[in-house]
Amino acid sequence: MSDSPSAGPSVSFADLGLGPDLLRALSEVGYEEPTPIQESAIPPILDGSDVLGLAATGTGKTAAFTLPLLQRISRGGPAPSGLILVPTRELAIQVAKAVHRYGKAMSIRVLPIYGGQSFGQQLRVLKRGVDVIVATPGRALDHIRRGTLDLVTIEVLVLDEADEMLDMGFADDLDAIVAELPETRQSLLFSATLAPRISKIAQKYLTDPVEVRITDEPTDSDDGPLIEQRAYLVRRPHKLAALGRVLDLESPEAAIVFCRTRNDVDELVESLNARGYRAEAMHGGMSQDERERVMKKLRAGSVDLLVATDVAARGIDISHLTHVVNYDVPNAPKSYVHRIGRVGRAGREGVAITLADPREHGLLRNIERLTHQRIAIESLPTVADLRARRLELTRAGLRETILEGGLDPFRVVIESLGEEFDLWDLALGAVKMAHEASLGEGVADEEEIPEARPPGHSRRDRGDRGDRPRGGGSGGRGEAGAGRRRTPGMSRLFIAAGRQKGIRPKDLVGAITGEAGVSGYQIGTIHIADKYALVEIADDVVDRVFEALKTAPIKGKRVRVKRDDR
Ligand code: AMP
Repeated sequence: MSDSPSAGPSVSFADLGLGPDLLRALSEVGYEEPTPIQESAIPPILDGSDVLGLAATGTGKTAAFTLPLLQRISRGGPAPSGLILVPTRELAIQVAKAVHRYGKAMSIRVLPIYGGQSFGQQLRVLKRGVDVIVATPGRALDHIRRGTLDLVTIEVLVLDEADEMLDMGFADDLDAIVAELPETRQSLLFSATLAPRISKIAQKYLTDPVEVRITDEPTDSDDGPLIEQRAYLVRRPHKLAALGRVLDLESPEAAIVFCRTRNDVDELVESLNARGYRAEAMHGGMSQDERERVMKKLRAGSVDLLVATDVAARGIDISHLTHVVNYDVPNAPKSYVHRIGRVGRAGREGVAITLADPREHGLLRNIERLTHQRIAIESLPTVADLRARRLELTRAGLRETILEGGLDPFRVVIESLGEEFDLWDLALGAVKMAHEASLGEGVADEEEIPEARPPGHSRRDRGDRGDRPRGGGSGGRGEAGAGRRRTPGMSRLFIAAGRQKGIRPKDLVGAITGEAGVSGYQIGTIHIADKYALVEIADDVVDRVFEALKTAPIKGKRVRVKRDDR
């Protein structure tokens, strides 16, 4: 067993030519290395070439064009120098957020422009001056026609998800917008496919473009290790609950859960431990000593879940690993193959499970195509499945106990109760006791987790809302961070103590379950900021928790608690 990286030297973001401000931003978001599309697109964009990029959602394409764009454009002027056109409102918001995140240290001013938003608000921001505009074509054109958006200062144009924009009938709008741009601009076009109509607009809008695509690399999984591959489509707010459900059902002997970024790893480890799993982090931000300590714990069995990034997990070999879980679809098919190759070694069977956002369905299909292996998309286990599994475990335990023998000392119990009760009832009572004891405290049946479908084009246009709740539940766990949307069925409490007071998720879970007598599953996502914390609590018990926390100490101190009903 070794835990030294075995792969060859990999390319870093700095190698690609990105400047210190961007490198700092990347390290803050916790990216450890560029994805393949970033590796091939960033250098030519930085050189000033036009680029035609073939990449689907989930490959890291947003950063592939945003990072070099930020480095190339002029900043701080009265008019915008970067224009990113996207098909939908959701994508406009998402890309604008990415621009903001990566460009923070450069004081980049970004404005998303999309239909349905008030013109007045957009105008006010435009007047103050912006560097980058992220717009849907229809609304951008409205602004141009009203004379409220002048594009003569645009230096870099990006057409993101160009195939989608054409599908949605934006071809004429695009022509009209591009006609307003200076000839000297740099143009980048990203699309998931290279359909003839894409080649046509590429010819029209791009000059001598460099074509970048993730090559269909031959993969080393063709000899078919014994890995069962499954995927569940789940939206981000429900991923944690879905992961819990999967782990409870699979009861892995040892598993690696892969995340894309360092920050995701740290957050997930905290959430899992607060919910009673035994998880440790493994990422590139840790020292060799720290990593070795984690490996030791894993080998000794005092930890059974490793939450890791690709880079950190490279080359580690854990012989008793039974499961690999991809918390997100990896950005490149090659990573998928590397990840799942951690199980199914030496003729042992293994299970690889992927939790995919519906938007990443295409990425999943691409992986299937390249690996020539099927990834079955299955329905998330239901509460009934979970109950059946727990009963199955009790049945197996009981069977083992009987086969082991040594039952004589208990005969007296049966004999005395046998006079009062039927033997069947006696047996059922004993099974109930054993079953409940094996569940332990605080474990209760969770509610159904809403499952999602792959997005259809029309759906997506309307906001990509593919939720298909099964059963009556609404108990998924959402992001509880400030300003984030709450999970349906959950209310939020504001707690006036945070990281600076040493508050950790498990302190809150402890106080809530201990003082208010609610179960862990009734607690949703916990967000801990420096000075405060936000906790989601199931609607039906939130009053009880609120009342209890008003007087109960958290980490030994009384803390102010408020309903956060925004
Ligand atoms: P996109 O294809 O742009 O929608 O990106 C998909 C996801 O990958 C986003 O959640 C990004 O935050 C994440 N991502 C992008 N680049 C990297 C990277 N180099 N390392 C890890 N995650 C990344």
